Amino acid sequence: MFDYVIVGAGFAGSVLAERLASQSGKKVLLLDKRNHIGGNAYDFYNEDGILIHKYGPHIFHTNSAEVFNYLSQFTKWREYEHRVLASVDDKLLPIPINLDTVNKLYNRNFTSEELAKYFEEVGEKKDEIRTSEDVVVSQIGRDLYEKFFRGYTRKQWDCDPSELDKMVTSRIPTRTNQDDRYFTDEFQFMPLLGYTRMFENMLNHPNIHIMLNTNFADVKDFFDYDQVIYTGPVDEYFDYCYGKLPYRSLCFEHTTLDMPQLQPVAVVNYPNSENFTRITEYKHLTGQEHTKTSITYEYPCWDGDPYYPVPKPENAELYQKYKAMTELLPNVHFVGRLGTYKYYNMDQVVAQALTLYKKLSGIDTLRDLAVPKANKTKVNGSAVPKIGSPVFKG
Ligand code: FAD
Ligand code: UDP
Repeated sequence: MFDYVIVGAGFAGSVLAERLASQSGKKVLLLDKRNHIGGNAYDFYNEDGILIHKYGPHIFHTNSAEVFNYLSQFTKWREYEHRVLASVDDKLLPIPINLDTVNKLYNRNFTSEELAKYFEEVGEKKDEIRTSEDVVVSQIGRDLYEKFFRGYTRKQWDCDPSELDKMVTSRIPTRTNQDDRYFTDEFQFMPLLGYTRMFENMLNHPNIHIMLNTNFADVKDFFDYDQVIYTGPVDEYFDYCYGKLPYRSLCFEHTTLDMPQLQPVAVVNYPNSENFTRITEYKHLTGQEHTKTSITYEYPCWDGDPYYPVPKPENAELYQKYKAMTELLPNVHFVGRLGTYKYYNMDQVVAQALTLYKKLSGIDTLRDLAVPKANKTKVNGSAVPKIGSPVFKG
């Protein structure tokens, strides 16, 4: 007899399993149809002994001290600020587009002020910013849009940016300074020993029973349980009764090269050439030293595991129909990137799961981990809030 069956051992399912077991003393059965925990953040040592991410590069970043504190109970961290280059016109240029990107691309010598003025001149005036094309062309004009965004987005999503909600390309800012970091969040770290080790620490509790290689649909009638937490695709749960919600997939080609380093940064994007979108070289993320290097090519496709909800108006509308059905099931709780059809980063999924935990238990983990700003201290050069006594079980 279990209090909860949790479907999916990614961030959403694992956070809820951990909270319900260790904070509320509940008995939890955690299922995943894959042969590992960690969901899409799963990492492992490949046959050459290099730590790689099975489902593409996962870089942890958040502005939430509470989320960071919560996860810090289960891992130590490695400081890492993500930098990405885009291969455009036979040059490797910083993306997000910044002062150096424009100066190197056009052989110019703009100052920040001049670049801001330039963007104002080339940016197209729009009455309303509705689509992913509008966002970019209004900020930086059509030429930069075509060189850095149009081709990448068409490859990644199999549609034109003008068909996608503005939130997709809004993820990438535009800068007039020389800041070449991909993210500007306050907390930017990688789990020191990897994501999988962090998940193992979260789930190491006598009240959590894990079953891998197990599809919920195949076993749901064989166990006694009170409540279900479902982190798989919401349309699948309802047998696609309103039709399929599109999820974009990726085919990952992993390979190891007999050289210590391939590229200057962890990720190089290919907006205009190649069939893949980007190449990731993991040693930049993990800091691992090795005579060889492992990389991954990402080829977007429709067949395969569901990775990305597709932010288009018609999909949002279809999702609302499924959401209405979820509200009729008081004992089944939908959460996570697939369960709520939201293009969420890892930290957003953790926050969403902790919010659901509060609803289920009345216990507000986010509030309990909040600290007044004045209580912040510097650890390893990064602002880290002080909390009571975080238990690192690793
Ligand atoms: P998932 O990790 O997808 O976990 C859901 C789990 O449910 C899966 O393991 C699945 O096997 C299981 N499942 C589904 N259906 C069933 C069923 N019927 N029965 C049993 N098990 C089932 N976020 C960042 O913050 N930074 C990044 O750099 C970043 N990079 C990314 C790169 C890529 C290529 C992708 C695809 C995503 C990236 N993300 C990143 C997003 C991140 O992966 C997600 O936010 C996070 O993993 C979502 O966690 P989740 O638990 O909601 O879902
Ligand atoms: N994007 C782009 N060119 C780039 C990087 C990103 O056009 O060089 C667009 C593209 O539509 C992409 C979106 O911005 O899907 C979000 O990029 P992000 O790197 O956040 O994607 P993710 O890591 O989630 O795949």
